[in-house]
Amino acid sequence: MMDDYLPLSYVNQFAYCPRRFWYMCVQSEMAENAHVLRGVQNHRHVDAAGYATDATGTRAHRRLYVISHELRLRGICDLVEEAEDGTLMPVEYKQGRRGKWNNDQAQLCAQALCLEEMSGRPVPQGQIFYFGSRRRQEVTFDPALRELTRTLVAAMHRTLAHDVIPPHTDKRARCRGCSLIDICLPAETEQLTIEH
Ligand code: SF4
Repeated sequence: MMDDYLPLSYVNQFAYCPRRFWYMCVQSEMAENAHVLRGVQNHRHVDAAGYATDATGTRAHRRLYVISHELRLRGICDLVEEAEDGTLMPVEYKQGRRGKWNNDQAQLCAQALCLEEMSGRPVPQGQIFYFGSRRRQEVTFDPALRELTRTLVAAMHRTLAHDVIPPHTDKRARCRGCSLIDICLPAETEQLTIEH
């Protein structure tokens, strides 16, 4: 059933915090904060679907729909560059700077796994463009990142099947940048737990 295919972008949310993924996926919560709004605005600049070929023969596919039946995952790649020899490379645009966690890299790797399944060709590398630093980060889809991504996707499906909201993340620094903090109330819930 295609209904249980998850959006690619939720790999990033789950890697950041399983509870955040739950709110967005099950309760459709997507509170806006400055970080979220910047992301929406930045994506508008790269959001026109289609493709173009440059002087080097590299073809740029924008807003490419991808799917993996093995992972039960689907979504849109911001940009996929196709070299003259047919090598595919996903490029993802992110607001801010590179974070301390691998959530952006896992989302990009999930795109690569979808592209490999669809094309039958290996996808060895990708890039993430951070608007905050205006830098592209090269990401190699090595066995460790592939394993992490597959593990995350399997855990996402398990979490939904289990049908219980995950606990707050114990990495509380993440809550400070989370747009759902006023819905999730991690500090207040912790206080209640202590008092009981
Ligand atoms: S506030 Fe913290 S625990 Fe709650 S969803 Fe956001 S990151 Fe997760």
